[in-house]
Amino acid sequence: MSNKIFAPKGTNDILPEKIALWEKIESQAKNIAARYGFKQIRTPEFESTNLFERGVGDTTDIVQKEMYTFTHKGKESLTLKPEGTAPVVRSFIENGMASAAQPVKLFYLTNCFRCENPQKGRYRQFHQFGIEVFGAEDASSDAEVISLAYEFLRELGIKDVIAKVNSVGCPTCRKAYYEKLKAFIAPKLDKLCDDCKNRFDKNPMRLIDCKVETCKEHIEGAPLMLDELCTDCKDHFEKVKTYLDCMGVEYEVDPKIVRGLDYYTNTAFEFIPKDSTKSQAAIAAGGRYNGLVETLGGPKTAGIGLAMGIERILIQLEEQGIEIDTEEYTDLYIAPLGEGAKEIALKYSTLLRREGITVLTDVMNRSLKAQMKYADKINAKFVAMVGEDEADKGVFLVRDMNTKEQTEVPFDKLAEFIK
Ligand code: ATP
Ligand code: MG
Repeated sequence: MSNKIFAPKGTNDILPEKIALWEKIESQAKNIAARYGFKQIRTPEFESTNLFERGVGDTTDIVQKEMYTFTHKGKESLTLKPEGTAPVVRSFIENGMASAAQPVKLFYLTNCFRCENPQKGRYRQFHQFGIEVFGAEDASSDAEVISLAYEFLRELGIKDVIAKVNSVGCPTCRKAYYEKLKAFIAPKLDKLCDDCKNRFDKNPMRLIDCKVETCKEHIEGAPLMLDELCTDCKDHFEKVKTYLDCMGVEYEVDPKIVRGLDYYTNTAFEFIPKDSTKSQAAIAAGGRYNGLVETLGGPKTAGIGLAMGIERILIQLEEQGIEIDTEEYTDLYIAPLGEGAKEIALKYSTLLRREGITVLTDVMNRSLKAQMKYADKINAKFVAMVGEDEADKGVFLVRDMNTKEQTEVPFDKLAEFIK
């Protein structure tokens, strides 16, 4: 028998050669989150089990079969976080964020744990980039959340991914809809899968997106929530679509995107590669959850969020042949020649750093040739040379390392020139 120990099924090592790519994606996520006004939050890797039972819903796949749950010292039931929203909502309530300036906009980058059947794009430990907005009920907030995901994927160069949007209504219009839906399904219920049978009473909307072929056939032609929205919900959905148009987001209305729990309201959406039929294809998913904060014991607070699977983003990058540039660049290298020039180099490197420019200069007393070689190594975009002649004229001789073009630039115009 081999005594080798392997990584647990469904987990992955992220090896040194992939770290630059991961860090790049994480930094782009942080960057776009900041541009939309989101602040980072980090919550524990495990929580009380009942947080997920209540916050994700006990008729969902996650709670029914995917959680890593353990009992601490024979007493407390704890669960490794299978998703990021419930913990953020718990923290929002616990830390009194309802009394902060609204909306509260939070983002996270986190591990998630789900006991699933591992396959490409479906793992037992994976990573999510997620955002949550609390306290904003307006449809513009839904559009902003969807737009962030759309722009993030666009900036990464991922093509042919579109947002599929739907509305799951509110508890009021859903009640009437459930009556209709159940009347349609009831005669066929015994032909549906066990999951569908279990969900029929508690969460009938989920039957609409059952992936089992025979269920799909039986459910074909079932009434759809989108056709049964009340006036307010219809109005909200129309506005979301208008605002998505304003923001240039490509989307499709798909009445089969559902999240059937009571605390999900209005907008539900997914980002799926066009023409994909794979079941592990969704790159991102999200929706509005106006009832969730209250369900978890907080004050009535509107909420909307989304989560993206980082591994699924990496798969898209690979399948689409997109190379992410993980090289580090230096904005400017100042190459002085001689003692007087060195003082100028030190003075201007400080001034330019104050302006947010990355500047390196010679601290090795190297020859110009050796300095140019070094500038190449650090991927300098520009080199500003200064010798006695330039110092007398008050200029740098600036070389664009890409085009090799050289230009004389007055000392105090250097920042402007390279920006
Ligand atoms: P799926 O239908 O693929 O099971 P889900 O509805 O369970 O997805 P969510 O809970 O909405 O997924 O999670 C948001 C995103 O996290 C998904 O769109 C996907 O990109 C990613 N994701 C979910 N489960 C996994 C997993 N086991 N491995 C890798 N990524 C995952
Ligand atoms: Mg799943």
